Amino acid sequence: MYLEVNNLKKSYGSDAGAVQVLKGVTTSVGKGQMCVIQGTSGSGKSTLLNCIGGLDVMDSGSVKVDNKEIFGLKSSDLSDYRRDNLGFIFQFYNLIPNLTVRENIQVCQYLANDPLNMDDLLEILGLEEHKNKFPSQLSGGQQQRCAIARALIKNPKLLLCDEPTGALDSKTSKDILVLLEKVNKKYGTTMLIVTHNNSIKNMVHKVIVIKDGMIVKDYNNTTIIPAADLEEL
Ligand code: ADP
Ligand code: MG
Repeated sequence: MYLEVNNLKKSYGSDAGAVQVLKGVTTSVGKGQMCVIQGTSGSGKSTLLNCIGGLDVMDSGSVKVDNKEIFGLKSSDLSDYRRDNLGFIFQFYNLIPNLTVRENIQVCQYLANDPLNMDDLLEILGLEEHKNKFPSQLSGGQQQRCAIARALIKNPKLLLCDEPTGALDSKTSKDILVLLEKVNKKYGTTMLIVTHNNSIKNMVHKVIVIKDGMIVKDYNNTTIIPAADLEEL
């Protein structure tokens, strides 16, 4: 398995005030799989993603990515791990406001060992005509496409998406999901997509449902609906 999570626990606060947010999460995701993590607000989805992504430090347990253990890494090794393996996409796009689309993507391209071709990526994501615009000149969907380009330019093996369509209308959400699906097929990128939308689970290989910090469902889909055919986004 590409990603193996074993008995992951995470609390916030200390002593009597400590709240356990992840109560022993165990799961795995195969290479090239798209996986949805679903659950109500506050169930621990972002915390799980952040522990897997090394943005947050777990208390105990194990997270292995491509057989490499993340737990216990010191912070400089964690940042190497993030740089070499991961792409992140969030609900809010976090673009640099005084850089153009192309420059926002370039910043990440410089950091990569073996980046994708900028022009190919701009074309795949439909950003060619917007490449010289600033974020404030773009719609929400266009900004998210730029954020996706920025995450993808280094061709990450694992893409972590936290509510990537959370701020978008239904039509734009579908466009973004179609793009993620295309990227998964073209580059074989393993993806974890956190969402509370109930329809997105139908387009992915694997579904994890988390409730109060515990996994309550974990299954592979037998039929997969293309993102373009999803209903009720
Ligand atoms: P979700 O993404 O499923 O909405 P989160 O993982 O963000 O849930 O949060 C799970 C729980 O952990 C919530 O009760 C939240 O208040 C708490 N929590 C998340 N981050 C922190 C933090 N940095 N400090 C304290 N509590 C936190
Ligand atoms: Mg969240």
